[in-house]
Amino acid sequence: MFRKILIANRGEIALRVVRACREMGISSVAVHSTADADAMHVRMADEAICIGPAPSVDSYLSVPGIISACEITGAEAIHPGYGFLSENANFVQVVEDHGLTFIGPRAEHIRIMGDKITAKETMRNLGVPCVPGSDGGVPDLESARRIAGEIGYPVIVKATAGGGGRGMKLARDAGGLETAFRTARAEAKAAFGNDEVYIEKYLGRPRHIEIQVFGDGRGHAVHLGERDCSLQRRHQKVLEEAPGPAITPEQRAEIGAVCAEAVARIGYAGAGTIEFLYEDGEFYFIEMNTRLQVEHPVTEAIFNVDLVREQIRVAAGEPLSFAQDDLRINGHAIEVRINAEKLPNFAPCPGLVNTFHAPGGLGVRMDSALYGGYRIPPYYDSLVAKLIVHGRDRPEALARLRRALGELIIDGIDTTVPLFVDLLAQEDIQRGDYTIHWLESYLARPQG
Ligand code: ADP
Repeated sequence: MFRKILIANRGEIALRVVRACREMGISSVAVHSTADADAMHVRMADEAICIGPAPSVDSYLSVPGIISACEITGAEAIHPGYGFLSENANFVQVVEDHGLTFIGPRAEHIRIMGDKITAKETMRNLGVPCVPGSDGGVPDLESARRIAGEIGYPVIVKATAGGGGRGMKLARDAGGLETAFRTARAEAKAAFGNDEVYIEKYLGRPRHIEIQVFGDGRGHAVHLGERDCSLQRRHQKVLEEAPGPAITPEQRAEIGAVCAEAVARIGYAGAGTIEFLYEDGEFYFIEMNTRLQVEHPVTEAIFNVDLVREQIRVAAGEPLSFAQDDLRINGHAIEVRINAEKLPNFAPCPGLVNTFHAPGGLGVRMDSALYGGYRIPPYYDSLVAKLIVHGRDRPEALARLRRALGELIIDGIDTTVPLFVDLLAQEDIQRGDYTIHWLESYLARPQG
């Protein structure tokens, strides 16, 4: 096992990894920018090292800075968290070339899944159900017309190099295809420097269902069921729950087995998430994330496992500490992402947190790097806390979430907490009856 791990991240996820390290008797090294000298992850880790100025490109994304920090501190492995360098295959290569261990999958698997056409083709060949669409890139408008005609309108034109919902355009009918095709290409070129696009059937009212998988890197893998992350704003997840309110045990077992088998066959190592759109009982693969997800705690709650500990074990060459048959769902968990943002426009709202009081009690987990007197810097993501609740069933989890939100105090800045209080009062949310479009239409309604 490793003696020392460097955490190439900040905020709540850096703390999450420090906690796993400490329980495993491993020393942790935090890295930070000059803007984060007072950050909680710096205080909580065993050692901390400044790797550059505030902008992420010069600090949290600085490969030389991070590698040097490992050399100076003697860290043997790097946990990337999510975001930043977590899905950067070139970084993984550099880490390995320096004789260090990347806590995550091999560069090859990150590369395959980072290109959407290759990812889809790989998954289809592994027996994973995909959205009907073009087999590969669509070179010109003429081919786009032919393919869209074959699969039937509406269709969505998507960037091969896409991410964060950019370079994605809807064509409701043949008349709208030319504009969708041209704008998707232009956006993709501008955002990713690659204008290759592909076409998919547009699903009108799907849920976002993702399967958590875990591979040991030696051809063995398990699945840990699904998370329903349909509540999204601008393609960003806002609330996640597990198990999915619309998924039956039979569907879970079936799609879970397909996913576990797929990642086992490619020899995948560590945590991964296979994302699907789900409509009328069918699953359609959209992408795979080759890292730990923000919403991993809901899965940890219902299966009572520590996914970061497993990532570290697998990276150190140890076997998974559970088999598929050991994994039984216990109750229901919900996570809300609390952002430093001002409603109703979700404008970023960094600044001084005067008072911070985290909720507690049975079934409540708060993953946050906030503390009273902390000044949230304006340079990074606006996620400041994840509140995760666990109950015997969904109604209990909802009641617990309502109670916990009532105890939470974040004073001095605006947050998205009032949105969650409102959402809990909605019947559709209480019934678990929502699609990926639900939140946008709710927010578009006249309020009051
Ligand atoms: P990105 O990597 O840019 O986030 P994804 O392929 O994961 O792109 O898609 C992001 C979101 O876009 C999905 O969660 C869904 O809301 C919507 N979307 C993607 N593909 C389709 C589709 N074929 N039909 C309907 N909605 C889609």
